[in-house]
Amino acid sequence: MISKRVASLEESVTIRLNGLTKELINSGKQIYNLTVGQLETFPDSNFIDKINTSLNKLSSFQYTAAGGDPALVKKLLADYSKRKNVNTNSDLIITNGAKSGLNQLFAALIDPGDEVLLPVPYWPTYLDLIKYYQGVPVTISHKNYIPDLFDLESKITQKTKLFIINSPNNPSGISYPQNFMKNLAIILKKYPNIIIVSDEIYYYLNYQADPPLYPYHFEPELLDRVVVVDGISKCLASTGLRAGYLIGPKFIIKEVAKLQSQTASNSCALIQNALSLYEFNLEYIAGINKEILHNQDILKRHASKLGIWYEIDSAFYFILDFSKFTGNSSDQSNQLCEKILSDIQVSLVPITQFGLTNGARISLSPDRKTFQDATVKLFEYLPKLLN
Ligand code: PLP
Repeated sequence: MISKRVASLEESVTIRLNGLTKELINSGKQIYNLTVGQLETFPDSNFIDKINTSLNKLSSFQYTAAGGDPALVKKLLADYSKRKNVNTNSDLIITNGAKSGLNQLFAALIDPGDEVLLPVPYWPTYLDLIKYYQGVPVTISHKNYIPDLFDLESKITQKTKLFIINSPNNPSGISYPQNFMKNLAIILKKYPNIIIVSDEIYYYLNYQADPPLYPYHFEPELLDRVVVVDGISKCLASTGLRAGYLIGPKFIIKEVAKLQSQTASNSCALIQNALSLYEFNLEYIAGINKEILHNQDILKRHASKLGIWYEIDSAFYFILDFSKFTGNSSDQSNQLCEKILSDIQVSLVPITQFGLTNGARISLSPDRKTFQDATVKLFEYLPKLLN
């Protein structure tokens, strides 16, 4: 009865795990939840004020243009140009979260059999959506979680339609270095038929010296075929408000807007109005990054002692490599995450979902105390994992 297309789609694993963990908590168990992909804090109070103000506007309760309120579209485009220092002719569409933007973008671009280059580790939704549109995911290997450019270039074929890049990266917690982006730009320039999808949703959550750069900073003409994915879920701690956007060439954004007009009409008018009134607050971001950095210090201390630390500099994730404890056996991520949950009540996301083996993703977003307690428990336990 259910269509094959939807029947074969997997439920989002992080969302499911988060739900499962919450169920355990509700049943009275104390669980240390390190699965979350969201900040456990309120948005900037100025933004909340703007939502309150917008409640008094009739337009907050009415349809907007399919692509979003034109004034807000203009404002977000200007913000993008200014903050990322790019000169762009691109257009922008406001979507119901970045995820919905990606879904519509893939619907607009992927024909059955089209190949999509996907660096490992990846956010699982990319893989599921590519398959949903009957595209062919072509994974790219990595060195220390940075895509291997030789592998990338060797996998480009006549059928390559898209290349997805996500920096700062979920799940590795790193931004790809400038030199890497520069070399990547040189390669991408050689293949004018490939559309580049640059998921920059964690852009502001970085605590490194320099903000992340992208291939189009080195080769600006790439902007003619780059679609930037962004939104307020992470930088405004507003995952539930479902506001995201795509910035890309007019001929692509136009088609996405056509699709959105038929499938969702528009994204929430109230939040659009609030965003029109709101000026992005870098102090708010600095406060968030300070908390993440605090948790990073705790994690670094413990992981270094066990020799499994690597430097993270952005987003709020770390990949815990189990192979140090288990050897290079077949993938046991799911079993080990379940065992850890039942033995010490620390909940992690198995890394298999992200295209790797024998590991788990740790989220650094919980409050300081929860994170400290969970980390102590986890790192006391890890050496005993296989005993
Ligand atoms: N892109 C990446 C890499 C993410 O990790 C997430 C959410 O976890 C999203 C996009 C989705 O963001 P949104 O809440 O705006 O749909």
